[in-house]
Amino acid sequence: MVQCVPGNKIIRKDNNIMAKKIPFITKEKAEQIRAEIPTPFHIYDEKGIRATARALNDAFAWNKGFKEYFAVKATPNPFIMKILMEEGCGFDCASLTELMLSDKVGAKGHDIMFSSNETPDEDFKLAYKLGAIINLDDFTHIDILDKLTGIPETICCRYNPGGDFKTSETGNVMGTPADAKYGFTHDQLLEGYRILKEKGAKVFGMHSFLASNTLTNDYYPVLASILFKTAVEIKEKVGVELSFIDLSGGVGIAYRPEQTENDIKVIGEGVRKAYEEILVPAGLGGVKLCTELGRFMLAPNGMLIATAIREKHIYKEYIGLDACAANLMRPAIYDAYHHITVLGKENEPCDHEYDIVGGLCENSDKFAHERMLPKIDIGDIIAIHDTGAHGFSMGYNYNGKLRSAEVLLKEDGSFKLIRRAETPQDLFATFDFSEYSFRN
Ligand SMILES: *Cc1c(COP(=O)(O)O)cnc(C)c1O
Repeated sequence: MVQCVPGNKIIRKDNNIMAKKIPFITKEKAEQIRAEIPTPFHIYDEKGIRATARALNDAFAWNKGFKEYFAVKATPNPFIMKILMEEGCGFDCASLTELMLSDKVGAKGHDIMFSSNETPDEDFKLAYKLGAIINLDDFTHIDILDKLTGIPETICCRYNPGGDFKTSETGNVMGTPADAKYGFTHDQLLEGYRILKEKGAKVFGMHSFLASNTLTNDYYPVLASILFKTAVEIKEKVGVELSFIDLSGGVGIAYRPEQTENDIKVIGEGVRKAYEEILVPAGLGGVKLCTELGRFMLAPNGMLIATAIREKHIYKEYIGLDACAANLMRPAIYDAYHHITVLGKENEPCDHEYDIVGGLCENSDKFAHERMLPKIDIGDIIAIHDTGAHGFSMGYNYNGKLRSAEVLLKEDGSFKLIRRAETPQDLFATFDFSEYSFRN
């Protein structure tokens, strides 16, 4: 159990002192926004987003041509995407509407990576039409794409090396690619590049995603070593020299205050070391790297802001929010930890134990279990941290709950509504009530 004390520190049960998570808005700011935009809403920090993008670009600046393709599924909002584009990022899309959104934002051609699976024909066609880099998920997709559109000059294949993925011989298993539905096997990959070359492809890439939300500076370097060695093998056995290697997503964030954050600079240097040891001696020193980070880019730069609307005293103490799992699904489905700050009470002792819950008719709708927090009063503003990625975007309409607004906190401290909240009309928009004799 974690206990927080006044100031910038938290004392754990074992008396170790650790840093506290500081929200990027104050109570005063939140109240000012709430007066115009009712809670719940997701808020994003422009300053933090830009700083994260710059830190990533800086960590990989040694690689000429490096590009981050932001994973659109994490935060599919055009205003957020525009900020990332201004910082030099492209977009990683997996569906028709993600492609449409990237197009609307103004991404062109190779600024879009299309990493999809079980891909419908129309998605392939749009990706081709937009000139996106198509990252094939399967060997059979070579023929499918060839018949649909022809093989584009630039093409990428997703590699699944099988087995378990560990960052060291004795390390923990971080992922089990053998169980993952994605990608080509090793032999399919080699054969795939041979066929793609025969069909006229000229610029080749390789992609792989082996573990999610990793909290170690070793994930990318170890993944990179596997891919770099495979690139050398492809050159030797197939005669295809890869032009780019996509390390995809998976760099995680410290959701818990006691966890140590990844250091992107150290990660970039680790990848550089593998690059210089494996690719450069093999004559592949021109390979461009790319990433498709979602969580790392946005999660810490977003929060779900809610109001405490009900309290309940039964076998446990409950605080009911105006937000629910439909606004943030991760705690309900993964039992994921999200840190909570009661705005304005940052320095009060955490001497009350609460379950912080939403109003879905599902007992899993709990943002926190038995969490030590300051005393919460009705009307207090509750900030749920690290919801900037896979937060709003995983939302749903169960129990007829409406999706919330999204707000951007701009660099100058002002705020902007970047998506309005849903209304009942939005929820009912797919019914044609005129077909029946309903009231209207
Ligand atoms: C989900 C996904 C990402 C982003 O993953 P994060 O864990 O958010 O970094 C990148 N690429 C592909 C293909 C994905 O499916």
